[in-house]
Amino acid sequence: MVHLPNDDDQCGWYHALPKVPARPSLVGEQTADYLILGAGFAGLAMARRVATHKPNSRIKLIDAQRVGQGASGRNSGFVIDLPHKFALEHPDPEHKQKLLALNRSAIAQLDQLVNQYSIDCQWSAKGKYQGAVGARGEAYLDHFEHLMKELGEPYYHVDNKELSEVLGTPYYRRAIYTPGSYLVQPAALVRGLSESLPDNVSVLENSPIRHLTKENGQWVLYGHEGVIKSPVLLLGTSIFTREFGYLKNRLLPVMTFASWTRPLTDDEMRKYGGELDWGLTPADHAATTMRMTADRRIMVRNSYKHTPKYGRSISHAMKAKIRNDHRQAFLLRYPALEDVPFTHTWGGVYAISRNFTNFFGQLDEGLYASACDNGVGVAWGTISGTLLADHAVGATSNQLDDIKYVTGMPSLNPPEPFLGIGVKSRIQLAKWQSRSEL
Ligand SMILES: Cc1cc2nc3c(=O)[nH]c(=O)nc-3n(C[C@H](O)[C@H](O)[C@H](O)COP(=O)(O)OP(=O)(O)OC[C@H]3O[C@@H](n4cnc5c(N)ncnc54)[C@H](O)[C@@H]3O)c2cc1C
Repeated sequence: MVHLPNDDDQCGWYHALPKVPARPSLVGEQTADYLILGAGFAGLAMARRVATHKPNSRIKLIDAQRVGQGASGRNSGFVIDLPHKFALEHPDPEHKQKLLALNRSAIAQLDQLVNQYSIDCQWSAKGKYQGAVGARGEAYLDHFEHLMKELGEPYYHVDNKELSEVLGTPYYRRAIYTPGSYLVQPAALVRGLSESLPDNVSVLENSPIRHLTKENGQWVLYGHEGVIKSPVLLLGTSIFTREFGYLKNRLLPVMTFASWTRPLTDDEMRKYGGELDWGLTPADHAATTMRMTADRRIMVRNSYKHTPKYGRSISHAMKAKIRNDHRQAFLLRYPALEDVPFTHTWGGVYAISRNFTNFFGQLDEGLYASACDNGVGVAWGTISGTLLADHAVGATSNQLDDIKYVTGMPSLNPPEPFLGIGVKSRIQLAKWQSRSEL
């Protein structure tokens, strides 16, 4: 049985968008020359690139939900050039340089598309702060600085005073600023990308696929009310790839959560006293991510859960506890804004692997996938989706060689119940260790 996405209907980014009518869903018997499943950053990039390579082909992009309701529309909106901590610690310098170059190529591609199609998504080249609250965070910053030096990457130190002026809070002891990341309203970007796809791509929304099989050389996807066939199928289904029997015991579903305020009033902006449009990730990765959006909303993200059923096990009580944790983090930073309520709290699922390796490539004849971005999927989804399309149509390029160089096979997970117990205790330990940085 295929477990379907189970995203809540509380994503602030999605609700902030104007309502648009749903696109058609999968009904009756349909065919396509190329089929792409999953309309997140990966699937959107796959569809665009296949369509560019094959202007006379019919491409169909299918999603279980509305475009923007999956993880790609509900993340914290950091379009990150620097790979995450574990990839930065990779022993092979060439590996790290290639990852960086691939992420930057994704950012350049998104930048070009945002400008070409005037996508209204708060896209901004604001860079990113990495903030330390106390001694533990500072030790992480020292390590990060060492990694930046090793890579020859630009960064600068931001002391408490300068940081307070930007963030409107003296809460952080210091930070390291790196200039290469962009910030974005993720749901707006995802929607804009889907609306600017080439004419030979049709998007089918609200079309959950319950079964996938191969019949007479064609991939056949069964939905609630229809079936669709194609000789070539590209999976942009992230963690859900395992539901179709691929990479089954190699991907780990992790859920993380965010809350945000309504836009601050003029009076609240005066109390806040900081700047608009910045993003801060925690020096200790298990702690709290913060954003102040260009439209005056403060967003808080923390808390991780291992969610084998993609959120079905998250009870109301658990969600209330998470929202309360967000509120405490908010009040510690902005006590003067205690009267500003949160309007939305939401969660989202992404895939990690135990060896922090991304999968990219062919799974079967005519079947390709990019899955497992270890939680930094805006840039990675974009570039891996683009290059997977190249791979599927038989194009060659240096970038394709590079992505093959930096990807591999996510390692096998231990069987349940050991896996669940192990992941849960690691998450709890990380939360406890990072409590002074929350
Ligand atoms: C709260 C949160 C904050 C995050 N912050 C960041 C950040 O700041 N920067 C960053 O880079 N990353 C961040 N991430 C991770 C990032 O969102 C993901 O890595 C990225 O969105 C993955 O993109 P994707 O296209 O591979 O997959 P997804 O966006 O997960 O897309 C997969 C799509 O497949 C569809 N699908 C699945 N199964 C089926 C089926 N059976 N039938 C039809 N459709 C199906 C889903 O509906 C979904 O839309 C965050 C994630 C969360 C949850």
